[in-house]
Amino acid sequence: MERTFIAIKPDGVQRGLVIDRPNKFIASCSLLRKILKPSGYNNQISEIISRFERKGFKLVGIKIMVPSKGFTQKHYHDLKEKPFFNGLCNFLSSGPVVAMVWEGEGVIRYGRKLIGATDPQKSEPGTIRGDLAVVVGRNIIHGSDGPESAKDEISMWFKPEELV
Ligand code: ATP
Ligand code: MG
Repeated sequence: MERTFIAIKPDGVQRGLVIDRPNKFIASCSLLRKILKPSGYNNQISEIISRFERKGFKLVGIKIMVPSKGFTQKHYHDLKEKPFFNGLCNFLSSGPVVAMVWEGEGVIRYGRKLIGATDPQKSEPGTIRGDLAVVVGRNIIHGSDGPESAKDEISMWFKPEELV
């Protein structure tokens, strides 16, 4: 079955909004609970996970980590000529990232639809970036852009035994 790599970037993790009713997945995931505020739950993480869950995609891997700068340079190697490359890699390695693998028919392409256009100013309302982000350098989430990058990114971020 098709799989894609999705990451909640440091801005998505650290917004730290609080909700009174965490979703079932977050409540049962001790790994995620560790990074959530004692007063409640990081709404941004559960909001993003919920959108993929509600669509019917299946979460087959998740972890939280602070990637090194070198690791983020490898992750975004396609963009190394871009003027924003250094800032982008600095930012992605500046704090905790929630790395995930989602599975389902058409999940690579449809996952990108759920995420919305790269620039949140151009993302449609109803998409994750359209609803939850404002500027391109802080667009809160990453998704693989095709089968090749999905395969490469999954194997870069996860060991096979970390996926169910
Ligand atoms: P991602 O790979 O993070 O899912 P994307 O595939 O929509 O995003 P890319 O072209 O791969 O877009 O760009 C990677 C990231 O680089 C974007 O998510 C954004 O944070 C940043 N970025 C893209 N264009 C710009 C820009 N013009 N100025 C600043 N940052 C940018
Ligand atoms: Mg991309």
